[in-house]
Amino acid sequence: MSAARLIALVADRLFTGSDPGPGQAVVLVRGDRVVAVGEPPPAAAEVIEFGDATLLPGFVDVHAHLALDGTPDGQDRLAVMTDEQVAERMAAAARVALHGGVTTLRDLGAPRLLGPSVRDALATGSVPAPRVLVAGAPITVPGGHAHSLGGAVTGAAEARAKVRELHAAGVDVIKVMASGGRLTPGSNTDRPQFTDAELTALVDEAHGLGLPVTAHAYPPAAIDQAVRCGVDGIEHCFFSVDGGLAPDLELIDRIAERGIAVCPTLGLVPDWPVPPGFRTFLDVFEQVVTQLYERGVRLVAGVDSGALPGKPHDALPHAVIEFARLGMSPAQAIAAGTRVAAETCGLAGRVGVLAPGHAADVVVVLGDPLARIDDAARVCFVMAGGTVVRDDAVRAKNPRWRAARVGGGEPAVGSG
Ligand SMILES: [Zn+2]
Repeated sequence: MSAARLIALVADRLFTGSDPGPGQAVVLVRGDRVVAVGEPPPAAAEVIEFGDATLLPGFVDVHAHLALDGTPDGQDRLAVMTDEQVAERMAAAARVALHGGVTTLRDLGAPRLLGPSVRDALATGSVPAPRVLVAGAPITVPGGHAHSLGGAVTGAAEARAKVRELHAAGVDVIKVMASGGRLTPGSNTDRPQFTDAELTALVDEAHGLGLPVTAHAYPPAAIDQAVRCGVDGIEHCFFSVDGGLAPDLELIDRIAERGIAVCPTLGLVPDWPVPPGFRTFLDVFEQVVTQLYERGVRLVAGVDSGALPGKPHDALPHAVIEFARLGMSPAQAIAAGTRVAAETCGLAGRVGVLAPGHAADVVVVLGDPLARIDDAARVCFVMAGGTVVRDDAVRAKNPRWRAARVGGGEPAVGSG
């Protein structure tokens, strides 16, 4: 058995997930691990040089829905699709995410108990896939938000039982619908779906089993309840009520103090025509996100990918760009979509950072996203667990790439 190849990724710039890193913009990879960062490539390494580009950790989308395809009735159709059909759709969405540089994602809502089996099939399959964490069916109330996915419960005892069922199926995180949601007509988006006793029981059961809980919550009352009942994360966090938004600064400060991760589910591809009503909402909500940031809330990037046509599964860089537009520095924004997102998924020390011993999940973007954040979306190369899964032909136009290549032979120039 021969030792794994040593590959040196070389560019003009590097961002480790925390900082520009030591020394040169070089990431050395052997097998599925990063073995060195910042050191000159050893003679034995195969060098891939990108020139005017930046090496980043693979992106992490903390809020994805692999089973959703952006269509308005997608959620309802899942109820009548077979497990095989849904699993196929989820695998295809995972491939789209990976091609866009999302090397890790957390699926926060898939039908029935499909999440864990799809995760495991992707992890062991022959086709490269992102690292996937799953919530399975979100826990909700009968007729409540996303009830058609199979997670409806009545009362504290059933909430505990559902947590135990999901845990037995092997989920990584519990998702609870603390309020209604726009995608489920008839669910109430202006008030909590559970009582305090029910939500406390759910969180207690999950934590007892070692599972974190993240809560979908739109209105202040549901956000406040989620915080009081001890959740680890809040999704959306709109502060919406009566058709407007009412951010509560005291509540925002409590979220910050407790270190609760908030994923405001930003991120839209720029060519999607945003419906006027949604644009109006976003214009106000973006001010809320700026307040969350300014008051020290731990913000993480997650798209709610699959929920809308403007949120394809590779849209994560646009959530990062949005964070920078709303007040974060480019470095903080990229960290929110890499290091901090990985920490939120319980993967600290393994992914989200370019450092020795971490997974060899590397994204290369053209240009300099630390100077021009829009460059974060110019993905040209993706490595996942040491395997090159995307390598755009544009790199072949870089004269330094050919000159630096070790091992001889003409570089293959593909069409994209
Ligand atoms: Zn969602």
